[in-house]
Amino acid sequence: MAFELEALPYAADALEPHIDRETMEIHHDRHHQAYIDNLNKAIAGTDAENASLEDILKNVSNYSPAVRNNGGGHFNHRLFWSVLGPNGGGAPTGELAQAIDDAFGSFDELKKKLQEAGATRFGSGWSWLIVGEDGKLAVTSTPNQDNPLMDVADVKGTPILGIDVWEHAYYLKYQNKRPAYLEAIFNVVNWDAVAQNYASAK
Ligand code: MN
Repeated sequence: MAFELEALPYAADALEPHIDRETMEIHHDRHHQAYIDNLNKAIAGTDAENASLEDILKNVSNYSPAVRNNGGGHFNHRLFWSVLGPNGGGAPTGELAQAIDDAFGSFDELKKKLQEAGATRFGSGWSWLIVGEDGKLAVTSTPNQDNPLMDVADVKGTPILGIDVWEHAYYLKYQNKRPAYLEAIFNVVNWDAVAQNYASAK
């Protein structure tokens, strides 16, 4: 069964001024679509056609680099769109807020760690908030389209928030200023969605 691109859950200009419409359109309609098309090509006629995306990623060392890059690309962007939103920003509440305080001391400290992980990722990749194998929250980063679900990841866990630090995510508006993008994006993080991901992951 082929993977398909879902529509964005909000308008392409809904995250302005923090993420501009043109970036969102190119990022979702072209980049994400290309990951899906190339994933479908890479699994056509193989056993992976009948596997879930999560199962492919958890065993990704058994697959080709094309499956790793494009399967990761599909999963990562699907998560990314879902944890952003026009009513985002602020800080998490409830159980997630408590878990963040327990793991990092404060929400500000978590934000700093996510920004550092993204800013120091050389080249392209992602900054992640994960529920680790020990059940605790942790921040990690991965190169390219890898993610913490993959058996090849240095730090494994279930990602509940991912921040794309590829230049295609920010270059039109922020050019080389990745830290400015990493500050602005916190205005559009949908913490309710992250809290739901936390509840299912833990
Ligand atoms: Mn991207």
